[in-house]
Amino acid sequence: MAPEAVKEAQAEAKPKAEKQTNCLACNKLIKKLKKYYRDGKFYCSKKCWRAFIIKSKASAAEEKK
Ligand SMILES: [Zn+2]
Repeated sequence: MAPEAVKEAQAEAKPKAEKQTNCLACNKLIKKLKKYYRDGKFYCSKKCWRAFIIKSKASAAEEKK
């Protein structure tokens, strides 16, 4: 085996860094979709960002009861 091939195999075995790949609101895969970045999180659109904010606020209110 060529030394270059061994190096490539080792690089592929490395664990990939965890990246957010799905929209937090609709759970769609964010790849080539337009990314909407807010507060360190990615959403596929502004609509999904707002939906997630509303949802998280609603669950926070539920916990207070
Ligand atoms: Zn979405």
